[in-house]
Amino acid sequence: MRTGNLFVISGPSGAGKGTLVARLVEEVPDAWVSVSATTRRPRPGEVEGVSYYFLPKEEFLALADEGGFLEWATYSDNCYGTPLSSVQREMAAGKQVILEIEVQGALQVKEKMPEAHLVFIEPPSLEELERRLRGRGTETDDVVKKRMDTALVELSHKMEYDIRLVNDDLDEAVAELVAYVNDTAEQK
Ligand code: 5GP
Repeated sequence: MRTGNLFVISGPSGAGKGTLVARLVEEVPDAWVSVSATTRRPRPGEVEGVSYYFLPKEEFLALADEGGFLEWATYSDNCYGTPLSSVQREMAAGKQVILEIEVQGALQVKEKMPEAHLVFIEPPSLEELERRLRGRGTETDDVVKKRMDTALVELSHKMEYDIRLVNDDLDEAVAELVAYVNDTAEQK
């Protein structure tokens, strides 16, 4: 059995993290993706306990106070956090644990667990990022503008990550991510 490792995947909303992580899980059998808690409302099609644990703000903050999160952060007026116990359980079971989280949370993880591997997913360009955000059709103009502003802040942190992958050609980006996870797992 390979030993457990922690991988943190960040990048602007719309950079394609979700798609990349879904493909990674298909190709790396011992990968396990953490389910975060959030105070944001579910989008159409999202499932409680699968997409996120959707919590009222008071409940989220109580959990944060009790030390229930490995990290947590506020993003676009909502709170998001990684439940600590499930990450510990899956790492102990030898899984390649994947967190898909934003930058503030990623940097908290690096501080607490310097052995974590941080991967930044970059969009090919800001124009392409905006096109992808609008193409989702689920966000209002206001939300898209806010997310583009946040994207610029997130991109300014990319050099604090261990590696950066440009998600231009999806298959190529998947191959690079899979190779990084497998190489890291083999090296230990
Ligand atoms: P969305 O609302 O689009 O699902 O997510 C917004 C942002 O929150 C994304 O960048 C996503 O990666 C990030 N996010 C999701 N879960 C967590 C978490 O547990 N912690 C942190 N810090 N960010 C998260």
